[in-house]
This record gives sequence, structure tokens and C-alpha cells, in this order.
Amino acid sequence: LEKMESNANTEKTGRIGGDESRIHVFVRIRPMAKKEKEAGSRCCVKIVNKKDVYLTEFANENDYLRLKRLKGRHFSFDASFSESTTQHEVYSSTTAELVEAVLQGQNGSVFCYGATGAGKTYTMLGTLESPGVMVLAIKYLFKNIRQRSFDGNHAVHLSYFEVYNETVRDLLSPGRPLVLREDKQGIVAAGITQYMAYSADEVAVEYQVKDASVNIINRVGKLSLIVLAGSERALATDQRTLRSLEGANINRSLLALSSCINALVEGKKHIPYRNSKLTQLLKDSLGGACNTVMIANISASNISFGETQNTLHWAYQEKEIRTKACEANEELVEVSETGTNQAKLLLELQKEN
Ligand code: ADP
Repeated sequence: LEKMESNANTEKTGRIGGDESRIHVFVRIRPMAKKEKEAGSRCCVKIVNKKDVYLTEFANENDYLRLKRLKGRHFSFDASFSESTTQHEVYSSTTAELVEAVLQGQNGSVFCYGATGAGKTYTMLGTLESPGVMVLAIKYLFKNIRQRSFDGNHAVHLSYFEVYNETVRDLLSPGRPLVLREDKQGIVAAGITQYMAYSADEVAVEYQVKDASVNIINRVGKLSLIVLAGSERALATDQRTLRSLEGANINRSLLALSSCINALVEGKKHIPYRNSKLTQLLKDSLGGACNTVMIANISASNISFGETQNTLHWAYQEKEIRTKACEANEELVEVSETGTNQAKLLLELQKEN
């Protein structure tokens, strides 16, 4: 999201953009599927105080003090959502503030993590009746761009891609794999489709301003919405099958992600982003000035006990990452008679106000 405005509003609110921010980690339990119920499975996770998640091995176990003492049975998150939490509640607790910060020129990332079938796609995309985080975030962005007085000065660029088997593919324009390249914005997928969802240029054509020169602030906010591969597939170990190649690569991606996270947790100078395509592309979505949200998806059923425990363990360690204080991505742009159409438009709007 690119925004040009003359009056830098860097006011920071709530948990986003404080002096020190960290990855905010949430857990969402999905309701038990019909199949799981029919198989006689029982619920093995309990939320206490809206934050703590306990993994229970036995039916009706509610000795939380005992579970707290057991290793790997008690986890605490920024918030934990039960089976009955709605899509809107998940969006407003996890992502709404971050999207607002993107409008102010910061970077923000939302990851969904968990085993296959745990609810990652449902949380991110949702359904027509119950849209998920991605849909609600995009709706909010456009609604606010239109409503706010600087609406002519925004441009939204949208890209959609997958990283699979260490290959990056453009999902808006399927074709050859994309090559990663370093430019002044960082690592980018060269030639990726950038769908211009709203063009400031188009509006600017209507306004022609010829005189004066002015300094304006050009701000770029980036919102990344990421569904990670099913975490359990990373555990495929048979080296001879195709599935194991996939497993090995997913493992490599998630391992690389974990290594970066650990290095960030330990405050190391060198963060090994280069170890996988995923982490190269996520460089500005993890460290640096970025607001990051991780939503760990788990099933309530005891059939998935092991996967749930792995997911909770992984998510819990991410809570410790502290990223640098978030600042708006700003650059001062001097605009003269030969300035861009957007700048001219801005100048005109300033005069009107
Ligand atoms: P994943 O993307 O992790 O593989 P899905 O999002 O496809 O998992 O979820 C598996 C199934 O469970 C889907 O049928 C989905 O609609 C359903 N589901 C997941 N989470 C929820 C939820 N919170 N409420 C209702 N149904 C859900």
C-alpha cells in the first residue's frame, strides 16, 4: 500500500508500534468435525482466562495446577480463541490494529500456522458467509482509503504467490517460476504481477497543477498475509518418495523460519534469512520494523494430540521474539514543477483544504 500525504501522522496506539514490539501469538481451536465426533474422539484442549491453553490427556481432566507443572501441557498466548469465536472476533483481536498501522505506513504480517485440517485456510480466507482475516483486512483497507480525506493519494498493489518445493510461483499470472532478486526495497520476486487495485495516477490526470514546489512524505506500508504449509508434512522423512521431497522442502522452509525466529529471540546480529526462499521473502515481515501476528490453528480432537502439542510448542516460542520499534516507512520526496502526477494532485488537495 502506497500512500502520499503531507502531514505525517505517526501516532501510535495500543499494542502495535510501541517502543518495543514483538510477535503477537494467538491460538484458535476449530470445532470438532463430524468425522472426529463419529470416531468417538474427545476434546483435548481447554482455554482458561482467555489466554492459557491446557492440553489434557484424560476426559474431564481439570486439575490445571497439575497440568501447569507438567512439561509441554500448558501454554500461554496473547489470546486464545475457542470453537465458538467468530471470524469477526478473530479479525478484530488479531489483525485490525495491524491493518490500521499499515495505513500509517508500517509493515504488518499475519501468519496462519498449524497442521493440515486445523483451520488455517478457514481463518485466513473463510467462506462467503463467514469471510476470514484476509477478506476482512482488504475490506477495511479500501473502506478507509475511500472514507479518509486523502483518498486520492493512495495506490494499492496486490500480489499473490506461493512458495512450494523452494519454487516461487505467481498465482495471479501462472507461468515460469519467479527468480528472487535484491533491490532497494529488499528481496523481491522479479516480475511478479502487481495488480493495481486502486490507481492514484488515474485520479491525478484530472488535476493539473503547474506551479510551486513542496516537500511531501511518501509512505509505503506493506501487509503480508501468509498461510504456511501444513506443519505435519514437514515431518515426512522417507528420502525416496516425492512426498518426502515435498516434506524435506517444507521442513527446510519451516526450519529456516524457526532458525530466523530463534536468532531474533536471541538478539543475534546475523539472522539466517538466506536459508530458504520463504525466509528471504519474509525478511521484512519478521525482523526489523514490522508488526507480526501469528495465529496457530489447532483441532480440539484428541486424535490430533501430537500435532496440536507441536503447534502449541512452536507458537509459544515465537512469543519471545522482539522486533525493533516500528516506524513508518517514510522518505522525503522533493516535488518540483516536474514532479509526479500524484504530487501535483496532493498539492491541489492541500490548496483546497
Ligand atoms: P487447513 O487450511 O489448516 O488445512 P481448513 O481451514 O481447510 O484447514 O479447515 C478444515 C475444515 O474445518 C474445513 O472444512 C473448514 O471449513 C473447517 N473449519 C476450520 N476452522 C473452522 C472454524 N473455526 N469454524 C468452523 N469450521 C472450521
